[in-house]
Amino acid sequence: MQEGTSLHPTVTLKAKRDVSIRRKHPWVFSGGIKHIDGQPKAGDWVRVRAHKGAVLGWGHFAPNASIAVRMLTFNEHLPDDAWWHATIAAAVRVRKDLDLFGTPNQNACRLVHAEGDGLPGLIADFYEGVLVVQCHTPGMHRALPILTAAFREALGPALLGIYDKSAKAMAKNGGDQSVDGWAWGKAPHGHAATEYGCKYLIDWEHGQKTGFFLDQRENRALLAAHAKDKKILNVFSYTGGFSISALVAGATEVHSLDSSARALEVCEQNVALNGLDPKKHQCIQSDALEYLKSDELSHYDIVVLDPPAFAKRASARHAAVQGYKRINLRALQSMKPGSLLFTFSCSQAVDDALFTNTLVAAAIQAGRNVRILHRLHQPPDHPVNVFHPEGSYLKGLVLRVD
Ligand code: SAH
Repeated sequence: MQEGTSLHPTVTLKAKRDVSIRRKHPWVFSGGIKHIDGQPKAGDWVRVRAHKGAVLGWGHFAPNASIAVRMLTFNEHLPDDAWWHATIAAAVRVRKDLDLFGTPNQNACRLVHAEGDGLPGLIADFYEGVLVVQCHTPGMHRALPILTAAFREALGPALLGIYDKSAKAMAKNGGDQSVDGWAWGKAPHGHAATEYGCKYLIDWEHGQKTGFFLDQRENRALLAAHAKDKKILNVFSYTGGFSISALVAGATEVHSLDSSARALEVCEQNVALNGLDPKKHQCIQSDALEYLKSDELSHYDIVVLDPPAFAKRASARHAAVQGYKRINLRALQSMKPGSLLFTFSCSQAVDDALFTNTLVAAAIQAGRNVRILHRLHQPPDHPVNVFHPEGSYLKGLVLRVD
């Protein structure tokens, strides 16, 4: 049964601030609000009205944040249980139709990508039966019981457990005190997921984000296509996503470099888990820039650079560009002729054109001729909502260095 909607607070927008919401962009900025009727708290549902009173839709409220409301619907009806079930079922269906989970060879993907799936504030990554959920808004975290029911219905017996990894994001976004742990069911430590035939251990508890970087799946597959008989350096390797796919595809030798000892430990376990020859793999615990400054780079046929986000906000864009230029310049200066550079940026504030221009500037300064062989992006289980272009964040280039 739908609860009475008359009790819910209403946010009324200033004149003209309804335009983007009518275009289904899901963010209401605090500066666009004329007045609020009622006293919504963090995570409460609010009705959003245009200046003259027309109801634009419903969203989750966040006080003291620049994005005051994240819209979930764009009509008069307050979302009910049936809405949650249908919305989750639709997101799961998209991945099923892409064959991204449920087969012996491929059983790990993102099932919900926030705004990309019409669910701002929610990330849900599926690792061979284990769903790791990360709520970034108090409203989404409060919806966890209905989300759990909806995922259980959509996934059926394929689902072993749902792990809630929201504590860090909740603390940052003014949510209720939240502790990471199982929201439903469970799975043993040492759980591995299969991506295009490669096995990866997923440490949802201590690992970064939800435990693994699913967004590089198609780019790892592309590296695999180039890897046979090659010597490869994987910089910012984390648990060895690119390293394992390259070794399985027949690379002669792979070196995984990361500053995190823990990530490298899991990387070594992944080498063993896939039955690979440990003599073909080496972990290097180092600061990336320090290693890139050394002469070692001239020994590799392929170098992968997949750094963490240098700029999460537009205000940090300039510093981020300098950071990308610095590491890529080092690489381009010392890589051997004929070698390939797989280089990435996951900073939303640095778009495709800016990233390409940064690489052009690095190539000019390095005095090398460079060809762009591939332009890379995030995969289809990290979709971009056409009404929310900000959702496009991962970009990469495969360069051949003369
Ligand atoms: N390519 C990986 C994901 C990389 S995440 C994959 O496909 O799974 C970014 C990684 O960079 C993290 O593991 C982090 O520990 C590492 N890192 C961050 N700063 C670093 C630095 N200065 N030097 C080396 N590694 C760094």
